[in-house]
Amino acid sequence: MKNQAAYLIDKQKLEIRDCPMPEVGPDDVLIEIKHVGICGSDVMFYVDPNVGGRFDTKLPVILGHESAGLVVEVGENVKTLKPGDRVAVEPGVPCGKCEYCLSGQYNLCRDVDFMACAPWHRAAFQRYISHPAAFCFKLPDNVSTIEGAMIEPLAVGLHAANRSRAHLGQTAVILGSGCIGLMTLLSVKAMGVSDVIITDVFDNRLEVAEKLGANHVINAANEDTVKRVLELTEGKGADIVYETAGSARTTEKTPDLVKAGGVIAVVGNVHDPVNYDFMTLNGKEVDVMTTFRYRNIYPMAINAISAGTINVKAVATNFMPFEKIGEAFDIALNQKQTALKVVVEF
Ligand SMILES: [Zn+2]
Ligand SMILES: [Zn+2]
Repeated sequence: MKNQAAYLIDKQKLEIRDCPMPEVGPDDVLIEIKHVGICGSDVMFYVDPNVGGRFDTKLPVILGHESAGLVVEVGENVKTLKPGDRVAVEPGVPCGKCEYCLSGQYNLCRDVDFMACAPWHRAAFQRYISHPAAFCFKLPDNVSTIEGAMIEPLAVGLHAANRSRAHLGQTAVILGSGCIGLMTLLSVKAMGVSDVIITDVFDNRLEVAEKLGANHVINAANEDTVKRVLELTEGKGADIVYETAGSARTTEKTPDLVKAGGVIAVVGNVHDPVNYDFMTLNGKEVDVMTTFRYRNIYPMAINAISAGTINVKAVATNFMPFEKIGEAFDIALNQKQTALKVVVEF
C-alpha cells in the first residue's frame, strides 16, 4: 500500500505527491478512498486559499470532504466495521466532551476537526485516510460509493429540512438550484412537502430540478420571483423559504416570499451584508433560522437512499479520475451551469 495525495501548492495548482500512510489509532479505520465529490468550498480554496484575507492558509494543503471508500484495516477497539466494508465518511470529528457534543448538537462543537479546512488535519483527496470508526457509516450492498460520497451534501439539505420542520402537505420555495438547492429539494420532497417552487438563473439546472421533483421552476433572470411565487400560492407565500444560493440579493427577497407564520431557513453561506426587512418579518411573525452543516444525519440518509426514497445519483454529473484532479477542479470552477457535482474517482 502506497499513499498519494493531491496537494494544493498554489492558486489553481494541484499536484499529486507521494505521502506517508496515515496512522490507524485503536478507534480508527483505514479507508481506501473510492469517490470524493468536489464541494463549492473546495473550489473556493482552490481559487484563493486565503479567501480574500479571511483565512491564513499555509500551503500546501489537501482538499476534499465528501468521500466514501473501502475499509482495509481496523483499530483494535473497532467492533462495528471490518475490512471489506464500504463506508460513507462523515468529515467532521467533534471533541466529544463539550456541552454541544454532549447534547447531540455536535455540529456546533467549537473544537470540531473538519476535513479540508483549518486546522487542516484531515482531507479526502488522497488514496488512504484514517478516520474514527464512529464517523464511518457502512453502506448497504445497493448503495454505491458514488452515492456514499454524495451523502455529505445531502446531509446539509436534510438538516435544513429537519430544522425547518418540513412536513406533509406544505409549500416550499428553494432559492438556487446548485448542488445544495437540489439536495434540499430531494430532502423536503422525501419529507412530504407537496409543492416545491425552485429558482435559478440557469435553465439547465432548472431542468434537473424538474426531473428531481420540483413542481414549479422560475428562471430569476427573466422572471420576477416574488410575483410568480405569490401567483402560485394564492397571494400567501410559501410555508418555508430556503435560501441556498448564498446571495445577499436572494436573501433580501425571502421576507416577501414567506407566508405569515412561516419559516425562512438560510442554508447558503451569505458572505455579503444583507439589507433585511424586519418590519415585514415582524408583521408575519416569521421564524428566521440559519443552518450549519448537519448532525446525526448519515444513518437516516443511507437508509433513505437504500430504500429508494431519495435519488442522489442525478446530482453527480461529471466524473474524473484522481490522476486528472486538476481538470476536475477546472470543470467544477468553469462549468458551473452543467457540472452540478464533479466526482473524483480513485
Ligand atoms: Zn461539501
Ligand atoms: Zn465538542
